[in-house]
Amino acid sequence: MATVKRSFNNRTCEAPYLIFLGPPGSGKGTQAEKLQHSFRLVQLSTGNLFREHIKNETPLGLKVKGILANGELVPDDLTVQMVVDRLDRPDTIMGVVFDGFPRTRDQALALQDRLDAKGKCITAAVLFRITDDEIVERLSARRTCPKDNSIFNLKSNPPRQDEICDLCGGALIMREDDKPEVIRHRLQVYRQQTEPLIEFYREQDMLIEVDATRSIQEIEAQLDEWMPMFIYNANS
Ligand code: AMP
Repeated sequence: MATVKRSFNNRTCEAPYLIFLGPPGSGKGTQAEKLQHSFRLVQLSTGNLFREHIKNETPLGLKVKGILANGELVPDDLTVQMVVDRLDRPDTIMGVVFDGFPRTRDQALALQDRLDAKGKCITAAVLFRITDDEIVERLSARRTCPKDNSIFNLKSNPPRQDEICDLCGGALIMREDDKPEVIRHRLQVYRQQTEPLIEFYREQDMLIEVDATRSIQEIEAQLDEWMPMFIYNANS
């Protein structure tokens, strides 16, 4: 099979497999949703997948319900298995944005093993940089749609109609784990377990950083500008 060199890190990948790294509320989900629409990448959000399982009361959903409500991390084996199952679906062949995964070093290693086995690799890890104060402010104004996972912010990105999803017309909710006490705990968990991944990806020359305090439109424009570096280029 022909190998293709990318301009970003000279890695040979067949399709963009991007990791969105950053604390809860840094805007990863909002931007992953946009890339899914504009570049047809699959948004693989482990948080959304867990919430689907909880809603459908599957065995996995029942197991992880309390863990999500407390802002803890689901054990690595359960998380990795869920991701592996999702990656086995054919729509992932054109590329994936991992949104909220990996969150531990073991998850990161398991993902690399899995992609190696499939002849694929991670194109880049995009770090969304933001302060804790801004996160607490943002998450307390965040509203999500439990039906289609759309994300709004009452201050910076309000729905057209109060508390109603623009897309499906369903009632928006505040996630249980966006309450201030749980947010603080999720931030601690992020610092302890996920933040070390910044160095993990930097050492491998995969890290690229975005200032996540900027507006949704500015970050979207920045990602659009970077996308050609991540996408297969037959002439390179
Ligand atoms: P998120 O929607 O990404 O903020 O995730 C919501 C919750 O789902 C987290 O607080 C964790 O309880 C769980 N979760 C999501 N992704 C992971 C992961 N990669 N590893 C472990 N737990 C996760």
